[in-house]
Amino acid sequence: IRHLIIILGDQLTLDNPALDGFDATRDRILMVETVGEATHVWSHQARIALFLAAMRHFAELLIEKSMQPIYLKLGQHDFASLQDAWRAKLNELKPEKVIICEPGEYRVLQMIEQCALAAETPLAVRDDSHFMISRADFRRWAGTDKNKSLRMEFFYRYMRKQHDVLMKNGEPEGGSWNYDDENRQSFGRHGPQNLPANPVWQHDDITRAVFTDTAQYFPKHPGSLANFCWPVNHQQALKLLDDFIQYRLAEFGPHQDAMWQGDLISSPFLWHSLLASSLNLKLLNPREVISASIAAYHSRGLPLASVEGFVRQILGWREFIRGVYWLDMPEMAEANHYQHQRALPSWYWTGETKMNCLAQTIRQTMQYGYAHHIQRLMVTGLFGLLAEINPREVEAWYLAVYVDAVEWVELPNVAGMALYANGGRFTSKPYVASGAYIKRMSNYCSGCRYKPEVKTGEDACPYTTLYWHFLIKHYETFARNPRTALMAKNVARFSQAQIGDIESSAASLLGRLESI
Ligand code: FAD
Ligand code: SF4
Repeated sequence: IRHLIIILGDQLTLDNPALDGFDATRDRILMVETVGEATHVWSHQARIALFLAAMRHFAELLIEKSMQPIYLKLGQHDFASLQDAWRAKLNELKPEKVIICEPGEYRVLQMIEQCALAAETPLAVRDDSHFMISRADFRRWAGTDKNKSLRMEFFYRYMRKQHDVLMKNGEPEGGSWNYDDENRQSFGRHGPQNLPANPVWQHDDITRAVFTDTAQYFPKHPGSLANFCWPVNHQQALKLLDDFIQYRLAEFGPHQDAMWQGDLISSPFLWHSLLASSLNLKLLNPREVISASIAAYHSRGLPLASVEGFVRQILGWREFIRGVYWLDMPEMAEANHYQHQRALPSWYWTGETKMNCLAQTIRQTMQYGYAHHIQRLMVTGLFGLLAEINPREVEAWYLAVYVDAVEWVELPNVAGMALYANGGRFTSKPYVASGAYIKRMSNYCSGCRYKPEVKTGEDACPYTTLYWHFLIKHYETFARNPRTALMAKNVARFSQAQIGDIESSAASLLGRLESI
C-alpha cells in the first residue's frame, strides 16, 4: 500500500489533515482501541466510553464514505498498547509512508516516531488544522525565550485581530476587550434560577455496546456511566452547540465562576457549554462554535459580556494553552517549582472527605466525568497546591477523571494554572485563596463541618489554614510581586504567636490529609 493513515481517538473529523489526498485504492486508514490508553492513567469509565463510542461512530462514518478503516476493537486483538499495534501493522502492510495528524500528546508523538523509525518507514506528521493557530505561528508569536512570561490577554487580542472576531473598524466590539467585571458573580443567597434542562441523548446500539465493553474490560476503573451525556458524533455535538446557544449562552458570562449545591440543581452543569469533550475529540470545530455564538449575538441580541466571555475561552484560552503545551514540552511534564512531594489523598477518587466543597466536586466528577472551570481550579486544584501535593500525582488524576481530558489541555491547566508548577510561565501569580473565596462563590460552606473564616483549631477550614501557611512559607516571593504584595502585607501583621499557631495547625493537617 501507498499510505498508512493513522487516526487517533481525539482526531475524529473528516477534515483531519491526515486524510488529505486519501485514495481508497492505494491507502489504508488504521484506528486502534487498546487497554493501554485507558490504563496509562486510571481513566474514568465515562472518559473511556466516550473515546470508544466516538471512535466507533467515526469508523462507521468512514465506511459510509467508502474509506473502510482497519479498525482493531478491544477484545479482537492482543496488542496491549498503540505502539504494539502500529508496529505489527507496519510490518504486515509495509506502507511506503505513514501519515498522521499531530497528536495531542507528546508521548504519542514520540511513540509513532519510534515505530516509524524502527520499521524504516517515512513518517509525515501533518499540522493540525483544527486549531486556529499553528504550532509554528504560536512559537513566532511567543518568541523562543523560555524564561519569558506569556500572557493570554495579549495573545487573545492578537487572535481577535488576526481572525477578525468581534472586531469593528479595527477596534474591539463594544469598545472593550474584556467584560470580566460583569462576569464574576456568585448566585447570591437564592441560588441559581431557571436552570436549563440537562441535555439528554438516546444512546444507539454502538454506544450501548461500548458501555458493555467498558464494564467488561475496565470494571475497576473509577466513575460511573449512569449519567453519560456526551456527544459521540458530529451531529450530537452540533445539537449540544445549538442547545448551548439557545438556553445557556446568555447566562454563561455572569455565573461562569459560581458554584452551587442543592435541590434546585438538577445538574452540575449550570450555564456552562459542556462542549470541551466534543471540541477536543474534534467532533466540533472551534470556528463553527465561535461563528454560532457571534451569529446569536447579532441575531438574538445576546449580551456581549457573555458572548465575548465565551469566545475568549475558545479563541483565547484554548488556543493559548495548546500553544504553550507544545512550546514547553517535555519540560512542563517535569516541572515542580515548589518541589512539592506529598501523595494525592485517596479520597480524590471517592469524595470521602469532610471538606464539603471537595466532597461535592469530586462526587460530581465521579458521577459525570465533569466539573466546571472554577471547581477544577479553585477547589480540587487549589487544594492540591496548598496541600503541597506532587504535581505528577495531581496531573495524572486530572487526565484520568474528566471526559474532556487530553494532555495538551490538561497539563498546562494543572501544572501552569492550578499548581504554579512551571513557576508562572503564563500566570502572573499563584492562584491561592482561603476558604473565604469558596464561601463567596458557592454555598458549599453552609453544609460543611469546617468554618471558612477560622484559621486554626478544630473548626478551621483546611483551605484557610493552609492558605496562611502557604503565604508564611513563601512570604518573600509574595511580598516582591506587585500582584501578591497585598496578601503578604496581611502576613506581616501577624504576631509570632499567631504565626506559630498557623504553622502547627498546618503541620497537623498536612500530617493527616487522609482523614480531614
Ligand atoms: P465552558 O465553561 O463552557 O467553557 C467553554 C470552552 O472554553 C470549553 O469547552 C473549553 O473548550 C474552553 N476553555 C475554557 N477554559 C479553558 C482553559 N483554561 N483551557 C483550555 N480551554 C478552555 N479543559 C479541557 O478541555 N480538558 C482538560 O483536561 C482540562 N483540564 C483542566 C484542569 C484544570 C486544573 C483547570 C483549571 C482547567 C482545565 N480545563 C480543561 C479547562 C476548563 O476547565 C474546561 O475546558 C471546562 O471546564 C470544560 O467545561 P465546558 O466545556 O462546560 O466549558
Ligand atoms: Fe470547603 Fe472550607 Fe468551605 Fe468546608 S469551610 S466547604 S472545606 S471552603
